[in-house]
Amino acid sequence: MRNTEKKPAEERRDQDLYGGLIRLHILHHASKRPVFGVWFIDELARHGYKLSPGTLYPLLHGLEEKGYLSSTKEREGKRLRRLYQATPLGRKALVAARQKVSELFGELLEDE
Ligand SMILES: [Zn+2]
Repeated sequence: MRNTEKKPAEERRDQDLYGGLIRLHILHHASKRPVFGVWFIDELARHGYKLSPGTLYPLLHGLEEKGYLSSTKEREGKRLRRLYQATPLGRKALVAARQKVSELFGELLEDE
């Protein structure tokens, strides 16, 4: 079965598995510069994660609630869009995650 032909239930299951990686990915980019929510959808798709706005925004709100991200509203024409940026706490968490991720990747790739 090709990746693009996954059933929704399968996609949800895999998303559970990759949830932490997706969160770290978001935090990583938000630590570089402020980013619009919709930008993450394209960026994550580029890495093979297909996220709908209905999945992405609760993730962003969750990270904001935990204090890892902060957001500001920005006017673009008639629309208000939200820009997300990593907080000092988010940056600290990212540094700690870097060590854990590199250990995990080392083990995962060892078996290849
Ligand atoms: Zn990326």
